[in-house]
Amino acid sequence: MRLSRYFLPVLKETPSEAQIVSHRLMLRAGMIKQSAAGIYSWLPLGFKVLRKIENIVHDEQVRAGHIPIQMPILQSADLWRESGRYEAYGEEMLRMKDRQGRDMLYTPTAEELVTDIFRAHVSSYKDLPLTLYQIQWKFRDEIRPRFGVMRGREFYMKDGYNFDLTKEDALHAYNRHLVSYLRTYERMGLQAIPMRADSGPIGGDDTHEFLVLAETGESEVFYDSEITELKFGNREIDYDDKAACRAVLEEFTSRYARTDETHDEAKFAEVPEARRRSARGIEVGQIFYFGTKYSDAMGATVQGPDGKPVPVHMGSHGIGVSRLLGAIIEASHDENGIIWPEGVTPFHCGIINLKQGDEEADAACAALEASLEALGLEPLYDDRKERAGGKFATMDLIGLPWRITVGPRGLKNGVVELTSRRTGESEELPPEEAVQKLVDIYQPHKVKGL
Ligand code: ATP
Ligand code: MG
Repeated sequence: MRLSRYFLPVLKETPSEAQIVSHRLMLRAGMIKQSAAGIYSWLPLGFKVLRKIENIVHDEQVRAGHIPIQMPILQSADLWRESGRYEAYGEEMLRMKDRQGRDMLYTPTAEELVTDIFRAHVSSYKDLPLTLYQIQWKFRDEIRPRFGVMRGREFYMKDGYNFDLTKEDALHAYNRHLVSYLRTYERMGLQAIPMRADSGPIGGDDTHEFLVLAETGESEVFYDSEITELKFGNREIDYDDKAACRAVLEEFTSRYARTDETHDEAKFAEVPEARRRSARGIEVGQIFYFGTKYSDAMGATVQGPDGKPVPVHMGSHGIGVSRLLGAIIEASHDENGIIWPEGVTPFHCGIINLKQGDEEADAACAALEASLEALGLEPLYDDRKERAGGKFATMDLIGLPWRITVGPRGLKNGVVELTSRRTGESEELPPEEAVQKLVDIYQPHKVKGL
């Protein structure tokens, strides 16, 4: 992509309405534009990162054996009356009437709808286990939308629902989700710690939230510092292996880690004092097991092995896809701008031409761009007739992890400069070697998608 043809409306001034760094940087880097309180348009750069995050989420869900579907944003209130949540949900639910006077709502979550699909089409235990998920816009009329996409009213969320014959199977689904979430966040360059949490209006007994530690987080958390040393890494796991998934859950949840809702001073005091931490965190996901709550209320049963109807055991599992952009920026930025982790960067590298209009420099940049693209990488080539300083500042602000700088002086010696946004370190090398290096760096970040 050539910057001269792209749409990147960066702001020079720091927007005064933004209170936290991720919101400021998303506005300054031209990623989003607010259209109403807590409702945003996604401009090209923001939309690209949103898609990258979404693709990683899909990739890891499909790997875990979960099946993507898409449910509608607008739902009839009738299903929600069946579960009793139409009355219970309160003011966060945006309600409206269609022209026939029927009660409709904008989906805040979709347990009822997916249970309705299930009861219409699944009748035998032989069709289980089944996990369906979607990535879809949600609306919650938050009392205080703030911090940009972090607490929006309209937001993008992955919501998945498991259906199992027994509690034991449903707990395996819970563990499977925990493993897949650990992988998902790590691929985005994030550490998200599973913490015991409170189940809120979804209901149920077992639930963990995934928290990214950050000063600007809205949740207060308490944990044993040892937990921050755990990494899932690139271990192989068989998602059908119940013991293996259970072992990962135990490894990642046996140390003390709780949000303030479930915090227990007495238990916390058992953690050696030097390892006790209290901090703030951003909730980027949550998993629930809630048993037969919805299947009982809505009559979602299957014929069991003995021919008798059994209500299915369920859980639901969410990832805050749009909130993740804010969380990643909170965790990865400096005073000059964003620093995207390789897994989610909107472009793989920037190309800066120090002397636009110079025949040799222009040709070298175009050749670099073409060879990167031929190898499946997406560069953003700043081909504008601007001062070098301005070009560097824009690249730093939008946070591409790698930059290739091309100028007449280097070209005389057959080299370009490859610079890491994170460390600021540069090396001079022939253009083909810079390209190869980027190919190697991005190799582990290939996303399969659906
Ligand atoms: P919170 O406690 O932050 O209000 P929640 O627990 O009500 O969130 P869930 O129902 O667990 O939210 O939704 C799954 C995920 O969706 C959350 O972990 C969070 O990452 C994301 N999410 C929830 N509400 C919002 C929002 N208003 N804006 C952006 N993302 C959100
Ligand atoms: Mg939650």
